Amino acid sequence: MSSTNRLVVLAGPTAVGKGTVVADVRGSHPEVWLSASATTRAPRPGEVDGEHYLFVDDAEFDRMIVAGDLLEWAVVHGRHRYGTPRGPVEAALASGRPALLEIDLQGARQVKAAMPEALFVFLKPPSWDELVRRLVGRGTETEAERERRLETARQELAAESEFDVTIVNREVHAAAEQLVELLGSPTSQP
Ligand code: 5GP
Repeated sequence: MSSTNRLVVLAGPTAVGKGTVVADVRGSHPEVWLSASATTRAPRPGEVDGEHYLFVDDAEFDRMIVAGDLLEWAVVHGRHRYGTPRGPVEAALASGRPALLEIDLQGARQVKAAMPEALFVFLKPPSWDELVRRLVGRGTETEAERERRLETARQELAAESEFDVTIVNREVHAAAEQLVELLGSPTSQP
């Protein structure tokens, strides 16, 4: 009933393809507001500061925590810090726009504690073997890193029951459209 019902939080195991699904939503549904997380990791080629992420240093991230600027934050894959700036989420919801957060499981749990009225969506691979294939297919991690991520993925898959809805990521665009439907946004822009 309230506009906060339109906040959708997407999480799921590592390498399930959350980023790709969100990129599809970004391309097809400009009416959906996507949160730009603050992160201490370096930008990758093609990533735009302020659009995909707010790239900040450790001191700035510390400042945001202390100031209470983050709705949630977490250290992801034991490395860098990522957090959701609170103000822009509140502004998007106040304007009635469907709003989407793509964050890790630790972050989703924090948002659930702070905003239990949000809709929590779990993105799941078609199978465990498929998840392993996607993780290995990336080819960007060392063997030790891959093992660490697989262990994390095992634990993350077990969290499905904490979520309101599950989407199986068989095909990226189809998964993105299911997500948009949950956001309650129109299928075509006026
Ligand atoms: P990447 O560095 O590959 O863009 O993202 C790595 C992970 O960080 C993804 O699993 C993504 O869900 C997570 N992540 C991105 N932004 C946030 C955030 O604001 N908060 C939390 N908790 N996780 C995030």
